[in-house]
Formats: sequence, C-alpha cells, structure tokens
Amino acid sequence: MLLIAALVICGMVTYLLRYVDHGKEWALYFSRANSGSTGQLVDRNGITLAYFNGVDNYFSPDRITRAANYHVTGDYWGRTGTGILSRYWNDMQGFSLLTGTTRKEDSLLTLCIDARLNDQIYLSLGEESTGCMLVCNYRTGELLGMVSTPSVDPIDGEGAVRDGAFINRCLSASYTPGSIFKLVTAAAAIENLPNLSQRTWYCEHEVKIAGVPITCMADHYTQTFEQALANSCNVAFAQIAVELGQSTMIQYVTDYGFLSGHSIDGIPTVKGNYPTEFVGDPETGWSGIGQSTDLVCPYSMLRFLCAVANGGTLVEPHILQNDTPAITQLVNPNTADRLGQMMNYNAVEHYHAETMFPGMTVCAKTGTAELGDGTSHSWFVGFLADADHPYAFVTLVERGGFGITAAGSVASEVMQWAVENLDA
Ligand SMILES: [Zn+2]
Repeated sequence: MLLIAALVICGMVTYLLRYVDHGKEWALYFSRANSGSTGQLVDRNGITLAYFNGVDNYFSPDRITRAANYHVTGDYWGRTGTGILSRYWNDMQGFSLLTGTTRKEDSLLTLCIDARLNDQIYLSLGEESTGCMLVCNYRTGELLGMVSTPSVDPIDGEGAVRDGAFINRCLSASYTPGSIFKLVTAAAAIENLPNLSQRTWYCEHEVKIAGVPITCMADHYTQTFEQALANSCNVAFAQIAVELGQSTMIQYVTDYGFLSGHSIDGIPTVKGNYPTEFVGDPETGWSGIGQSTDLVCPYSMLRFLCAVANGGTLVEPHILQNDTPAITQLVNPNTADRLGQMMNYNAVEHYHAETMFPGMTVCAKTGTAELGDGTSHSWFVGFLADADHPYAFVTLVERGGFGITAAGSVASEVMQWAVENLDA
C-alpha cells in the first residue's frame, strides 16, 4: 500500500512540475494557428508586421516588408526559431497555468525595430545576396535594424526557399572576421603595450614569425599604430598579437563577449571561436588579424561596437520596447575613445568618408576575411559619432570580396537613409 501511495505521489509531483514547465506548449500546440486569441506585432512606428485574430494569421501586405522583416518576426509555424513569433507566441496568447485558458484581450507587442529601415537594408543588400546587417542605437540599446539574406516570404507557405534562408545570419551564424578583428587586437594593445604612440611597425609585404611567413596586402613601410590600423596591416597586427601573447588575446576576446552566446530579450545568439589551446606564435599572429580559427557572430561584433561608440559603456541591445536594458562597462573608456578616433581616421583617410558617408562623422573598419578557397567575406562595421544619429552597424556580405566595396556600399546606402529618415 505504502509503495503504491509513494508511486502515485511521485507521479503527481512529476506531472505538476512538467505542467508548470511545459503547460503552455501542451495547451497551445494543437491550436497554434487558432487559439481564439487576437494580437499583433508592430514596429517602432506602429507598422503592423504580424497579426492574428483567433482564426487566421497574417503578415504585412507588402512583399518586401514581409521578406525584409522575416527574421525579426519569424512565422506562425516556428520555421525560424529566433523569430519573435516563435519566442513570444505563448506570451502573446496569454495562456494561464491556473485556468488553462488563453487571454481574451488583444495582445500587442511593440518592437524597437524600424520596418522601413529593414526594407532599406534588404534592398541595399539585394534579394539575391547572402549576408546580413544589424543597426543599433548605442545610446538606448534599441535594435533598429536586423536583416538576413536570403530571406523568406512567409506567406509562401511551403514554397521553395533558398538554402539557409531560415537562418538569421545576424544571430545564428559566426564567420571568419578578417581585419575587423584588428579592432579587438588594437584594444588589447592600447591597454598593454607601453609607449604605443612612439612606436612604429615596418612592413614590406611579409613578416616571418618563427619561420612562418605572414603576408600583407601591400608594402606599408614605416607606420605608426594609427596608420597600421588604417592600412589594416597584417605584418604590424600579427606582430602586435604575438607581443601581447595568446593568453592576453584570449582574455580580451573572452571579456568582450566574443566567446559567449548572448540573449536579446530571450532570443539566443551563437558563440564565436578563438584558439584557446596553445597554438604557438605564428598561429597567434594569424589569430590577431582575424584569420586562424577565429569566428565572430555578427551580433557579438555589434555589442562590442555599441560599447566602443558609447564611451565603453554597453547598453545591452534589445528588440522589445518597454524593456529596461542592462548596462555594463564592456570596454575601458580611454580605450573606447582612442579606438573610436582611430576608426574615424580610417574612414576619413581610407574609406572615402566624404562621399560614402556625406555629412556624417563615421568611425569604421573594413574586413576582407580570406576563406582559403580564393573567396572572402566582406565586412564593414562601425558607428556614427553623432548625438542625433547614434547608430552602430555591422554589415556582412558572404563571399562578397573586398570589405569596402560590397559591405561598405551597403553600409553607405543604409546610413544615408537612416540619417535622413530616422528620428533618433
Ligand atoms: Zn602591411
């Protein structure tokens, strides 16, 4: 008798625990498309991106808006796990564990995202491209733009989509960073190498580290630290990484959050990679210039840039309005200021800032990440040093070639649009 009673109690406790944990999914699983609730998902300007009336589920009537915002909204069928509809469906249904019913009143979820900005990013990237772009207000942490291509028109249902279209490349992929990673190496150098301002590095196309050649794009000859970053000199930055040492590099990559997964209002992002086992000087050199086994998730780079742009203080990016973001000191304030000045020097001296970013104070770094098969990812990352337009951005075009041409021209178009059309 006692044994049977114990078994019954065990069973009930297990059931209750599982009910609390999974009750929402059980209740809503079979009625995902028709739970009787009504609600909508709107952008920061009140543009409707998705709404449901208890019988049918809808998206924006505009095809470009649907595709441009697909990785933000997700869909009602959970085909992209990082979409808002996937993450917040149960909450929007308002399922109650006590009564076992869904809510009667409308649910409204307002995003920080500007759907028109996403439309512009989508058009600038091009429907046929493979890449992504993030734009964030680094003062408030509001995520304003997030687009991944190829995308999906959610009302196509089971229609053909391009390979990998359900992946949000901003959050769920990590890439060889190439020269954008020199920003991390530069930050570590600013804090650890003495007399940095008095030093120079000499580049004649190649440096041998422990007998292993590391090559550069050009002969840069004698350069200051600032010039080496603007030249994106592999010879200089490989030597800087070796001088810092692998353990110091690991510490900075870790502290800046590149090896962690993050959460945007509960939506997870993937970790990056950096060689953490001992690899020796030549490989440390390669890792310091964003090659080796380095991998960076675009979102992690956005967080780092937001902190640099905001004097070192990170206002954690978030996608839901009414959210109070966490605030942390991610980067030393002096390091952030110096890095920002160097990135502005890059843009002015090397990236044709006057024509690409007219009227803007842009701070940026390009990346051309070689993939070993002759192709390269094109990166362009940075921010506007402008109190009225405090935008940080990360742009990536997969196998796009040179950073400045592919990703740089997307960033140029999008930032011009943003400055003209966004309020703040
Ligand atoms: Zn060089």
